[in-house]
Amino acid sequence: MGMRKPDGEQRTSPVTGAYVLVRSRRRTIGLEVRPDATILVRAPVRTPVWYVESLLREKAGWIEDKLTKARSHVSLLPRHDFLTGERFRYLGREWPFVVVAFQETALTFDEKTGFSLDMAAFDRGEVVFEEWYRAQARELLAERVHHYAPLVGVSVPRLRITGAKRRWGSCSTSGTVGFAWRLIMAPMDVVDYVVVHELAHLREMNHSSRFWEVVAGVIPDHSTRRRWLKDHGGMLTI
Ligand SMILES: [Zn+2]
Repeated sequence: MGMRKPDGEQRTSPVTGAYVLVRSRRRTIGLEVRPDATILVRAPVRTPVWYVESLLREKAGWIEDKLTKARSHVSLLPRHDFLTGERFRYLGREWPFVVVAFQETALTFDEKTGFSLDMAAFDRGEVVFEEWYRAQARELLAERVHHYAPLVGVSVPRLRITGAKRRWGSCSTSGTVGFAWRLIMAPMDVVDYVVVHELAHLREMNHSSRFWEVVAGVIPDHSTRRRWLKDHGGMLTI
C-alpha cells in the first residue's frame, strides 16, 4: 500500500519549472500534481520531450491552480522549532510540549502533561523525537501484529520499522511486514487497519476482491480508516 515515489527524469519546463518525467509501457500521458507540490508526467516510452512540454503549456492554468492548492497544504504541515507551547502528534492526538532544564532522559512523555524535552537536547529535537516514535512504533506494532495475526489467519511474521514517508506498510514475499514509524502518530484504529492490511497480504499478495474480503472480515469499516490516511497522512511528520 501507500505511494511509492516514482523514479523518473528530473526536467525543467520553461512554463511550469521543475517536473518529473516517468516513462513506462503505457499508452496514454498522465499529468499529476502531487501533494508535495511536484509535477509528475507519466508517458509512453517513446514520447518526445517537446510533446510533453507542449502538454504542460496547454495545461499551465490547471497546473498552477493545483500547485497553489498543494503549496498551501504543504505550509500547513507541522514543522516544529521545538519550543515550549508547540504540539506533537501521538496516536491521533496532539500533545502539549515543553522544554525543561535538566531531566534525565532527553525526551519523556506523560499522558497528563504530554512531551517534555531536556534543554540540552534542544538542537537534536528532531532526532530525539524520531528515536522516541520509533521505539513506541516497535513496541505497539509488535503487540498489534500479535493480536491480529490469528484473526487474519496467519502466523506472526517478522516485523520491521521503516523510515518511509508515505508508504505506511509493506509486506515482503519472505513474510516480513514493515511499518513506517510515522504511523505511530495516527489514531489507533488507523494503525490497526494498516496492520491488518499488511497481514492480509500474507494470505493474498495483491489487492484483489479476495484480499479486501480478508481485510473486511477483521475490519469492516476499513475504507473509512483508509480514507483518513489518504487525507491526513501528510500531517504525520515531526
Ligand atoms: Zn497493500
